[in-house]
Order: sequence, then C-alpha cells, then structure tokens
Amino acid sequence: MSKTNLLGLDQKALTQTLMDLGEKPFRAQQLIKWIHSQMCDDFAQMTNLSKTLREKLAAQCVIEAPQVISEHLAKDGTRKWLFKVEGGSAIETVYIPEPERATLCISSQVGCTLNCRFCHTAQQGFQRNLTAAEIIGQLWVVVKTLKKEGIFKAIDRPVTNVVMMGMGEPLLNFDNVVMALNLMLDDLAYGLSKRRVTLSTSGVVPGIDRLAQACDVALAVSLHAPNDTLRSELVPLNKKYPIAQLLAACKRYLGEDKRRRITMEYVMLKGVNDKPEHAYELIKLLKEVPSKVNLIPFNPFIGTKYERSDEKTIQRFQDILMTGGLVTLKRKTRGDEIDAACGQLAGKVNDKTQRNLKFKQTLILNTQKDTQEEKQATSFA
Ligand code: SAH
Repeated sequence: MSKTNLLGLDQKALTQTLMDLGEKPFRAQQLIKWIHSQMCDDFAQMTNLSKTLREKLAAQCVIEAPQVISEHLAKDGTRKWLFKVEGGSAIETVYIPEPERATLCISSQVGCTLNCRFCHTAQQGFQRNLTAAEIIGQLWVVVKTLKKEGIFKAIDRPVTNVVMMGMGEPLLNFDNVVMALNLMLDDLAYGLSKRRVTLSTSGVVPGIDRLAQACDVALAVSLHAPNDTLRSELVPLNKKYPIAQLLAACKRYLGEDKRRRITMEYVMLKGVNDKPEHAYELIKLLKEVPSKVNLIPFNPFIGTKYERSDEKTIQRFQDILMTGGLVTLKRKTRGDEIDAACGQLAGKVNDKTQRNLKFKQTLILNTQKDTQEEKQATSFA
C-alpha cells in the first residue's frame, strides 16, 4: 500500500486521516505546525509527538514535496523554480520580491486545457491536474529555501502574497486548489491574509460560485476584452461562459461587501484590444461590477502572432479608464529574461491531448532557447 502524503492535507483532512489512524484530532494541529510552519518533513524530529506515534506515522505516511529541477534568478530579483512532477513533466513557480511584499505565483495544473490564444502555457497542451501536495508543495519548498537562506526582506516572512496565476486553470482543479488555499490561510500553517491570496480564473462561472462557498480569497478574472466577439477569439472559454454570465458571477462572488473589488486582468495586445474604443467599452461594461483593472503588457513567446502594445498606447488606455472612474494599474513586467513573466510559464509538458501538434515546432525552438538561457541565468540547481 502506498503511503499517504500529509503535505497536501488541510486541517480538516489531516484530522480525519489521524482519526482513521486511531489518533486524537488535536494531533492534526501539531502536525500542521511541524509541516507548514517549521517546514519539517521528518517525523523523527517531531519531538512533541510520542515515539510510538512518530513510528506509526513514518510507517504509513510521508511528507513529500515536488523535487526542484532548477532555479533561475533574474536581474530584478525574480526567481523561478522548475519542479519535477510525476509523469515526466515539469511545472514552474515564480517568486517576485518587492520592497513591501513578496509574491509567489503558483501553478495548479500541468499545462492547461483552455487554449487562450496569447498564453504560452496553452500552447503546451494539457497533461493533468496537480495534486494538493504538489500545489502547496511549491509554497513549502520556496518558504523552506528562503528561510534557510535567511535573506528575505519583505516584512516578517519570506512570502507575503500568493497568486494562483501560474500554469493551469485553478478552478478546473477545484478540490485540490481549495485544499491548498485552506493551508495558505490557516494560521497554524502559512497564516496569509485572505486579501493576500488571489485566485485568477479565465472565467469558469460554476467554479466562481463554488469558490464563494468554499474559501474566501481575492478573485482575479482574465477578462482581456470588452465584448464577446473579441473575448471569444482570445479566450475560447468565453463561448461557454460569455461576459454577461461571467460578470454576474463576479457580482455574486463579491456579495454585499461594498469594499471588495474583483481584479480584472487585461493583457495589452497591439492593435487587437488596445484601442480607445475598447477602453470606453470596458468602462461601460464594468460600471456595475466593483472592479479594479490590471493592465498586463503582453509577454511574447516564439510562435505567437501577437505583439505587446507600445508604452504610449498602454498609458493612453490607462488614462481613459481612470478618467472613466476605473482604478487601473499597470502590471510591471518581472522576470521576463528568465521566461518567468505572465503567460511565459511553460514547464516541459508531455501533451496527453496531443491537441497542439502544430506547436511541436515551437516547443522544440523553445527548448533550445531554454537551454541557452539556462546557461546564462544564474543556476542554483
Ligand atoms: N488560468 C488562469 C491563471 C493563469 S494566467 C487565468 O487565466 O486567469 C495568469 C494571467 O496571465 C492571466 O490573466 C493570463 O491571461 C495572463 N497571461 C497569459 N499569457 C500571457 C502573456 N503572454 N502575456 C501577458 N499575460 C499573459
């Protein structure tokens, strides 16, 4: 019988597992602290547990995070980890330090099924959902690493914010993602504030409603277009859940709380969605939904037909939105020289769907590019 991996169990699930082992429920709290606060993966070191319990746990359970394949550091301090996950693939996690905070961008799937036209991850096809242990394991490894290095500057902890904006669509891996979110928010584990954990979705409407019931975190929506014609072209999922349905779900998500906002992500694609008329349409569209807009300069990758809007165009777009009363931020591009910026995360996915054969060539090109960059970037591996 294979051993249970305790890393991916939130307090409720861990309590159940311990009760199944004939243990008292409060042991779960002790274990959560050891695993997610002390970053301990060795039962023998858990000295406030009896020796018998430690031996029982060691015989039946493990605490296992995904293995680091390589690590890259960009000049701006952004770090990217490539993790090996079962099935011969890799996933990526990105750490973005800033003076006042440090954000970790976490992946939820190996590849992605949604095929957004401007996203590199999409071109890789889809292999599988990550397990809860693989999702929280990304945070676990990074926190453990940074604690060991002891060089984190951000406030009092190495990671202050988490964004579920890495590879994959988190709401299509619902249960595992929620399990990991619960651990991020748990005071005995990472104790992150619910406003500092953000889940980004391309617009899985039923998932947004389920999330509202399951877990209270900040929501970001990949809107990218102010009308259905354009959005369906960029984000094919829009054909299933058009904008009106998506915005209605956003309003339901916010409920009665007047202070909360949904972050609307809008990737700036030259000549596609960046004209003044798009900005005016967006103002009208978002009148009814408390939101703030995050403009993301497009991050190009080999094989894409899209280009990044010029700085001037982005500025003009932002000005129109602001004049129209929408809080609008421009996302700074971070870590692009190590392919760690939004939409550049690709890992190395064995596409089980074989959906994107025409992108095989792109993949090969990218692999060659990666190898070159691996040589250039500072590698800790
Ligand atoms: N599947 C989720 C989360 C992953 S993407 C979602 O769609 O929201 C995180 C953000 O980066 C999304 O807003 C996504 O649309 C954006 N993005 C994807 N590719 C990009 C690219 N090449 N340049 C800039 N942003 C991109």
